[in-house]
Amino acid sequence: MRHSRQVLVFDADDTLWENNVLFERVIEDFLDWLAHPTLDRRELRAVLDDIERANTVAHGYGTQSLLRSLADCVTRLRSRPATAREHAEIKELAAALVDDQVELIPGVAETLTALGERHDLLLLTKGDPDEQQRKIEMSQLAHYFREIGIVPEKNDATYRGLIETHGLTPATSWMIGNSPKSDILPARQAGMNAVFIPNPHTWVLEHGELDHSDAQVLHLKSFHELTRHF
Ligand SMILES: [Mg+2]
Repeated sequence: MRHSRQVLVFDADDTLWENNVLFERVIEDFLDWLAHPTLDRRELRAVLDDIERANTVAHGYGTQSLLRSLADCVTRLRSRPATAREHAEIKELAAALVDDQVELIPGVAETLTALGERHDLLLLTKGDPDEQQRKIEMSQLAHYFREIGIVPEKNDATYRGLIETHGLTPATSWMIGNSPKSDILPARQAGMNAVFIPNPHTWVLEHGELDHSDAQVLHLKSFHELTRHF
């Protein structure tokens, strides 16, 4: 247990609430809808991953980016642009992403209440600003955080900017999240500590190789374990 006051920076999607599992359901429905005559699901998924990798760089993250990638996938597989009808059907498949309430990960609210009494809490999420803002509002968690940042990408420069903007001391600041690529590795590059809390539904594009000998990364199994350490 760290008794001195620390700065705890939280990721949001798949750390505070479930997110990618909803995207995965849409993709499963999309693969059913495609009913491709020769490629199996794994092969189709590889095509889509490839398209998403490029589209997230060019167009960012979130529902609109996924819709674009699904339509691009149709274009690539059928060697012609998706029709207006196909666009409409794809949008229908993804309707749940727009309408759904957020589902908090168990123990989040109680844990934030306890941590907020002892530490400084910040939130840092990436994605489409309107979409992320909507999820933050639905979560009813905003009041726990001194600052909330919505950024297009989370890389080394993002964390250096965070440290500078908020005058953080990296040695007593922690990035807490489910993504090796967006939370743990770039925060460590910027000199912060990190807490990795894996989510079984983490998107393949967020995967990354963690150095298990790195003592500045705490590995936890669940969110509520945070109160044992902070
Ligand atoms: Mg996340």
